[in-house]
Amino acid sequence: MLLSSQTPIVSGTGQTPIPWVIVRIDLHTHSRVSDGTQTPAELVAEARQAGLDVLALTDHDTTAGWAEAATAAQTEGVALVRGTEVSCTAGGISVHLLSYLHDPHDPALAAELAASRASRDGRARAMVDRLAADFDLTWEEVAARAGAEATIGRPHIADALVARGHATDRAAAFATMLAPRGPYYVRYHAPEVADAVGLVLAAGGVPVFAHPRASARGRVVSEQVIRDLAEAGLVGLEVDHRDHTEADKARLRELAAELGLLVTGSSDYHGAGKPNRLGEHTTTPEVLAEIVGRGRIDVVR
Ligand code: AMP
Ligand code: ZN
Ligand code: FE
Ligand code: FE
Repeated sequence: MLLSSQTPIVSGTGQTPIPWVIVRIDLHTHSRVSDGTQTPAELVAEARQAGLDVLALTDHDTTAGWAEAATAAQTEGVALVRGTEVSCTAGGISVHLLSYLHDPHDPALAAELAASRASRDGRARAMVDRLAADFDLTWEEVAARAGAEATIGRPHIADALVARGHATDRAAAFATMLAPRGPYYVRYHAPEVADAVGLVLAAGGVPVFAHPRASARGRVVSEQVIRDLAEAGLVGLEVDHRDHTEADKARLRELAAELGLLVTGSSDYHGAGKPNRLGEHTTTPEVLAEIVGRGRIDVVR
């Protein structure tokens, strides 16, 4: 008998068939269009090499990498979920909201993302100005670390500091000169996360709270904030993420079940900039099907 890719292996004892094709789905990655180190095309090629079947590109506050990634996805035979990681605030706590499969031309969401990018640009220049008073560092060096249309963030400043020998690696720069409580940190505009959930939904996107308990990034939100977001239409929680402890994951799974939220897992791959490896955490095909069913635009395949 020929086995097609959908043919289950059926045991002789009448047990439930075990599908022999394992679909590997990674729903959170970054390219040079934000603070990853690979071009969108390189990222898609790496995803195929890593054995992924489905990849989401979720650069910070932008859809500028979608077109290049879509072309590469068709060449490489990887299914592409187009997304964005939206920078938000929850009463002063910095949080990230993943949006999947939204209309990139929706005026309200596009305007909010454009405002965040503009504010991030001014903020990055202000941080470099402050740093340049104490360290050899220029804006040109920082900008050279980012892609042409990239949203410039602290990772690019970190890379420039490392190249100058002012820090040993990105993590060291984040822990010292770039720390939020330090003298060089400047804040940037970001929407309230409940408003962002509304904007994403109105744009036909599927909002998923990225790494809700990633305490290494700073303060994390209370469970009440997650309850309120579920009320506002949040669709899922990113539970399986390297910044979560086993206890975090267990509690988030309970919350998701209680609130009727989907559970996702993903790598948050940034290329060479972070230790995260593609596919180190994944999302189930059932959850992906729910996301695709709710999104306004198609998966590219
Ligand atoms: P920003 O949004 O410009 O404040 O920078 C935050 C970004 O830096 C996040 O997207 C993280 O991916 C990245 N980041 C945060 N902490 C670290 C760290 N310790 N090492 C490397 N990258 C980090
Ligand atoms: Zn990032
Ligand atoms: Fe994030
Ligand atoms: Fe991310």
